[in-house]
Amino acid sequence: MTTCKANSCSTSTDYSWKDYCSYHEKCLDKLKKHHSISNIREVETFETWFNKNCGYVINCNSSSSYPYYIWIVVFEPSVKSMSEKLSAIKYKSDHSNLSSARDKAKYLKNKLQNSNGWYDAPMLDIHPKTNSYERFDSIITSPYVIKRDVPQKWEIRYGPFLAPGQLDVKVPVDNISDYAKVFDVLKVSSVSYEHVGVYVGDGEVCHFSKDRNGTYIDSWEDFKKFDGFDGNIDSSEAVVYHSMIPFKYLRRIAEQIVWAVDNNFWHNNYDLRNRNCEHFANMLVYGINYSGQIEQKKKNAYGLS
Ligand SMILES: [Zn+2]
Repeated sequence: MTTCKANSCSTSTDYSWKDYCSYHEKCLDKLKKHHSISNIREVETFETWFNKNCGYVINCNSSSSYPYYIWIVVFEPSVKSMSEKLSAIKYKSDHSNLSSARDKAKYLKNKLQNSNGWYDAPMLDIHPKTNSYERFDSIITSPYVIKRDVPQKWEIRYGPFLAPGQLDVKVPVDNISDYAKVFDVLKVSSVSYEHVGVYVGDGEVCHFSKDRNGTYIDSWEDFKKFDGFDGNIDSSEAVVYHSMIPFKYLRRIAEQIVWAVDNNFWHNNYDLRNRNCEHFANMLVYGINYSGQIEQKKKNAYGLS
């Protein structure tokens, strides 16, 4: 009998040749399968206020015994139509020896576990690209933020005056709650533009609407219909952006949504370049006032790549 090698795990393993308990074996298998992280020297799993299945691993170069790298691991099991997701986020700095890497990993674990409330931004403690000026696309990307497609399923609906079997209309049906988690960013796009909102649960979306000139919470179906869309997003896409680690304290996002809807934020104040639906959603969820489609248009206009 021997004890599991993972930090803070006292489970004994049945065979002396086995280093880890079955739970930690499974964790490492997943890491090896989804990410080619080799030469793992240390593992620890822990819970945080935003996810029960977090952990860190420390590995090093295969060719030499240093430097050591820290990876913060976040696992989300599959739920509804969302498949399981395992993100391993490499910490920004490396370490020349194992004990300093371990000290840093434990410090990060502690930061992720203990919430300061309103000013908490756990992603910013880990993300390597938030200390410097970086393109939005390199911050809001995998493994920090994952993208999921919302497939458009079609349903045939029959009109009241048609005989059975006679085709009336085909309408897209999807249940957004099968594809999105609370405070995910939702985007529907057509050839010329995009409409962006924040999922708030129960099939509803908070968005700043140009058509309605203010901030509202609407059903997913209605959200798709506003701002130039007719609800039949046949030739367009619906995508979900999900943060594996929150960029903001979740209660702060909730309070800001409630405040924005109560005060009809930006009422009569729409400005495509500075205050559009995408600025609004990105500000709520990431704390970044940015619109990718506007930046893209500017680049196109100036002929920049
Ligand atoms: Zn263990």
